[in-house]
Amino acid sequence: MPHYDLHSHSTYSDGLLDPGALVRRAASRGVDFLALTDHDEVSGLAEARGAAMDARIALVNGSELSASWDDVTIHIVALRIDPSDVTLTRGLESIREGRRTRARRIADSLTAADVPGAYEGALKYAGTERLITRTHFARHLIEIGRARDMKDAFAKFLTRGKPGHVTHAWATMSEAIGWIRGAGGQAVLAHPGRYKVDERDMRRLLTEFRDAGGEAIEVLSGSHTSAQTAEYARYARILGLKASSGSDYHGPGESTTDLGDLPPLPAGVVPVWSAW
Ligand code: AMP
Ligand code: MN
Ligand code: MN
Ligand code: MN
Repeated sequence: MPHYDLHSHSTYSDGLLDPGALVRRAASRGVDFLALTDHDEVSGLAEARGAAMDARIALVNGSELSASWDDVTIHIVALRIDPSDVTLTRGLESIREGRRTRARRIADSLTAADVPGAYEGALKYAGTERLITRTHFARHLIEIGRARDMKDAFAKFLTRGKPGHVTHAWATMSEAIGWIRGAGGQAVLAHPGRYKVDERDMRRLLTEFRDAGGEAIEVLSGSHTSAQTAEYARYARILGLKASSGSDYHGPGESTTDLGDLPPLPAGVVPVWSAW
């Protein structure tokens, strides 16, 4: 059976490997279909495509869109999009523009918590003002000795209730799904196990996601426990959603689940790739 890894990041967002190195690593680790899904960005796909031809691996055009569902931030993985679709690329541009002002607000809030210079520090890791993520702030906090590692940086500074956390309105869920479908792609709710919502709201999120045109959820994810995998397989079956699988790999030393590490999907779900 071919191995699908449908969620990964390169240096075009907050990954550590450039698209070529990422693709070659995936190929060497037994991945047959790799989706490059940089946050709110598709510019790495051209580079990845060239490397994929040389490495004889199938590259899936993807992106991971930041979206808001009520006041909850969710991530929607887009698969098999046309990266030149104008409505989609304009939509992604608008999300990235929001990132720029958000990064300023994160930095201001860190300054108030006695961490000056964080904007410049994060920017150094990001390369562009329009794609500063919390991961880049975390790398800076580690570098200056204010956090031990990624986990520590998020726990101390970057999550809700902590000094470097700000709220932000991303694209709405239905806008993001509309852009993805308009570009010929499939919309997949990323790592549902990560959202801090109760059971009732999770059911409502999944139902509204499906009703807005969402096609699948990540059942297997680098950030899911095996109990969560079983839980989301069950949701997928009950709600008529397909199932996806993605490591969410960001790079050596930062991701515990490597490319190609995930097991096969549990029985009884319909893979998101069933009609590919
Ligand atoms: P942002 O989109 O700017 O809010 O950044 C989100 C990114 O931060 C995610 O894509 C992950 O790469 C990373 N991230 C979020 N939470 C954590 C965490 N608890 N530990 C490590 N990385 C995290
Ligand atoms: Mn990330
Ligand atoms: Mn994500
Ligand atoms: Mn991701």
